[in-house]
Amino acid sequence: MQYHSTRNNNISVSAAEAIKTGLSAEGGLFVPESFPAVSLDEIKDLTNKSYNERAYFVLSKFLTDFTDEELNNCINSAYTKEKFETDSIAPLFKLNDSTYFLELWHGPTCAFKDMALQILPHLLTTSMKKTNEDKEIVILVATSGDTGKAALEGFKDVKGTRIVVFYPDNGVSEIQKLQMVTQEGNNVSVAAVKGNFDDAQSGVKKIFTDVEYKNLLDRNHFKLSSANSINWGRLVPQIVYYFSAYAELLKNKEIELGDEINVVVPTGNFGNILAAYYAKKMGLPIAKFICASNENNVLTDFIKTGVYNKNRDFHTTISPSMDILISSNLERFLYDLTGCSDSTIKDWMNELNTKGMYKVSPEVKEKMQSMFASGCCDDSETMAAIKKCAAEYDYVMDTHTAVAKSVYDKYVEETGDSRKTVIASTASPFKFNQSVLIALEDHNAVVGKNEFELLEMLSQKSNMHIPKSLYELKNKSVAFDLVCEKEEMQQIVSDFLMVE
Ligand SMILES: *Cc1c(COP(=O)(O)O)cnc(C)c1O
Repeated sequence: MQYHSTRNNNISVSAAEAIKTGLSAEGGLFVPESFPAVSLDEIKDLTNKSYNERAYFVLSKFLTDFTDEELNNCINSAYTKEKFETDSIAPLFKLNDSTYFLELWHGPTCAFKDMALQILPHLLTTSMKKTNEDKEIVILVATSGDTGKAALEGFKDVKGTRIVVFYPDNGVSEIQKLQMVTQEGNNVSVAAVKGNFDDAQSGVKKIFTDVEYKNLLDRNHFKLSSANSINWGRLVPQIVYYFSAYAELLKNKEIELGDEINVVVPTGNFGNILAAYYAKKMGLPIAKFICASNENNVLTDFIKTGVYNKNRDFHTTISPSMDILISSNLERFLYDLTGCSDSTIKDWMNELNTKGMYKVSPEVKEKMQSMFASGCCDDSETMAAIKKCAAEYDYVMDTHTAVAKSVYDKYVEETGDSRKTVIASTASPFKFNQSVLIALEDHNAVVGKNEFELLEMLSQKSNMHIPKSLYELKNKSVAFDLVCEKEEMQQIVSDFLMVE
């Protein structure tokens, strides 16, 4: 299986090359040249398999240049009971006869980024070896919260890698900050940057594009890389859990083999929902994809109108991992819908860059709308969804999953579509304990309480146990108290790598 660039079909690289490089040189994203077909019989066979076996089934179809041993090593290093606190890795929770939550947050950082970032470091180091790259990888991350911690946990103590994470001084939640400053591992570094997320991100970008700096690192046998969600090595592991969810539904006799289901995804960068779409392309019976957004509803409008317009106010919401105006992975989806027209994609992405908007053709819009529905909600609706679901079902959702539930309820009301539906549940409610508790009670409930009191309180209210990794933060010591100016970021990387 070879990979093309969404902006140049003539580019053709192996999976290992695509994962190692991350982004194609002309700015396009790597996509598989074709989608391997999966039969219903093969899907039936998955019902008796473990999550890791299901992962092998999907990954082996795409990463054809990896040996069985390499793939299994990657999979078994990533998905363990120890790290995920459950054998099933991504359990399916039945809410009622038509709604199921696919819980993707049992990993070490309590958010769905773990599903990909636990395995990416292993795919990456294997890809380096396979392409005879002997340098040490240095991962640089600017984070607004979830990604930074998930990348730190994924890369910690992975041989041949180092990682430096920058987060905005005043831009992450208290829990997220605690998670990062107490990070363990002998190849990690964390620093706060004075400013907001954009300052941290533009600082990282500047380091990446500094040619002189690249040469300096080269001479010292280091190679910069990123762990962001456009890397094929982050996307492909996400296809697995949609197959796994379908297999669970079959196993539990909730559906018959071949029955179509709907999928709802709280969306930011469009990676998670794209993985579901790719699963359908391979043959997984999915009828509708419901794309849920918070007040940053660029995608809601795009799916309804065919016009992508990022020229609008940015909203800071209680579902911060979806506060995004440019959904990078949409490019892969559009490439597919245009029948792999690299020139069209290049034009649209160019317009997005220069004008902040583009409009797709009527045919693309029609194709998109035949499969995708969209909707959005504001913070008060998100809060209401949490409260209602807890009252009706005793099931407590986090603020991102609640956006999906709110949008889904509206969708059912409008369409009457009663098909069985899987909602991607993307974070543990404990990770956003403050907002969740305010939703369940009111502001007074949280006043004056510290993070650990909030965790305890939520545990009592929800009858759920506090995830081990959050509970243990209490006894961890702060390892990183570095706060730097934007201009000092490169020096921090140099100090960590001991290059000058
Ligand atoms: C990253 C994230 C999302 C958005 O996922 P995309 O793949 O970027 O669309 C949703 N919820 C949570 C909790 C996340 O961390």
